[in-house]
Amino acid sequence: MGVFAEVIEKDEECVYRHMGFHCFSWSVGGGGSVLFWLDRWCSDDALCHLFSRLFRLACLPLAWVLQMAVSGSFVHDKWLSFFKRDLRPFELQQLGELRRVIGGWRLLPTVPDRLIWEPALHGGFSVKELSLLMHSFSLSGDAVGAFRVWDLGVPPKIQCFVWFVLLERLPTLVMLQARGVHVGASSLACVFCGTGCDEIQHILYDCSLARHVWDGFFRWWRVACVRPQLLGEFIDQGFGSFFSGFHRQWWLVGCAAVLWTLWLARNEVIFRGKSLELVELCCLVKLRSFFWVKADALDCFFDEAQWWCCPLDCSFPIAGRAVRHGIEWSPPLAGFWKFNVDGSARGKPGPAGCGGVLRDGDGHIIALFSGPLGILDSNVAEIRAIAAALDILVEGRWEGVSSFVIESDSAVALSWILHKERRPWSLDRWFRDIDGACLMLPCVCFNHVLREANALADVLAKGGVDRADWLFLCS
Ligand SMILES: [Zn+2]
Repeated sequence: MGVFAEVIEKDEECVYRHMGFHCFSWSVGGGGSVLFWLDRWCSDDALCHLFSRLFRLACLPLAWVLQMAVSGSFVHDKWLSFFKRDLRPFELQQLGELRRVIGGWRLLPTVPDRLIWEPALHGGFSVKELSLLMHSFSLSGDAVGAFRVWDLGVPPKIQCFVWFVLLERLPTLVMLQARGVHVGASSLACVFCGTGCDEIQHILYDCSLARHVWDGFFRWWRVACVRPQLLGEFIDQGFGSFFSGFHRQWWLVGCAAVLWTLWLARNEVIFRGKSLELVELCCLVKLRSFFWVKADALDCFFDEAQWWCCPLDCSFPIAGRAVRHGIEWSPPLAGFWKFNVDGSARGKPGPAGCGGVLRDGDGHIIALFSGPLGILDSNVAEIRAIAAALDILVEGRWEGVSSFVIESDSAVALSWILHKERRPWSLDRWFRDIDGACLMLPCVCFNHVLREANALADVLAKGGVDRADWLFLCS
């Protein structure tokens, strides 16, 4: 233990990277020592994160895996009794997804549960392996000018993920089988194309789908080049070392977003049987990198609408942090969070969509949505956007914040909200929802802004018109 204590003292953050929650998962046997909601056991993340809503409703948040099964199986009819109240339709849908994720698992009462330390090839924790990892970490840290995963402007979980890609230690089917884990899949084929294998180099780089996503990403950045043959080499070279300054940082963040998006898409197919279209993947790459870059880009003026065309055009450094009033998003009053919403319709009426983005007082994005509404008038789409935002505010728990501003660039929609006598009767249903939600929230106010200051909501609404499904992301 002495050696270990010394190692920890040397670099606490580095230890977290190799020893944090994300590094451990359970190989479930009998299920009597694994927490159903809180441990990582059946997917990349704990079920309490993947299904946070169901988790909040669970009667036994600390239930063991064993307690949620009936005779070792998760296919049973007791599910509804595990929650504090009757589930609403969309919660039932989530429950359906949860049941799909764990439906194939069976508990093996005679097999002990085993904690896997993922960085180690065999899953067992050893100080030796940890010190080797830390050694290679500090080597990469010392190299001047070289690419360092830990400098990526992305959340620690994503840094770790890229690091695991580099070490070739993602739990792909090929890797799991090599470790002697029974993967339960009939074949080790790539879930995207069916011809390659489920291993890192293929799914994140060589697969035709991966190539298309990378090509789209390169086009988005207006970069033309031949990529090295090996993914590891590409990462080692700082993903091609394009650009300098903050554009370089953003490029790296974007590359990490491509890898992460492909990995999540692969998991979606495997665990939920849900495959995503190429267009959707490219959009998710832009969205994810937007999230991460925006959190970091405090000293730039950031034109959000341009981001979706080309990141190179969307920013220039500014001296200080002066907000350009009226044409740039401005923070809400202290204690408030702000939800920017927008509706959009192509024609009167025409195919419509809506979108919105919730930010905290510092401008960090907390949640966003974008979805189709069918054939509508744009004013109706604006009202639906406000209703959707309120619905999200009512349903969520927002770190104790209870005061919100809803900001829209539609003067008409806002005048309907504020003056009941002006409301068209045909929209009664939505106004009832809106009034109801306002009563449930301690403090909501409405504000009109120029379209320029509502740019991201505008882009999400326009994008929503063409979406097949609703997109909802929460940080
Ligand atoms: Zn493939």
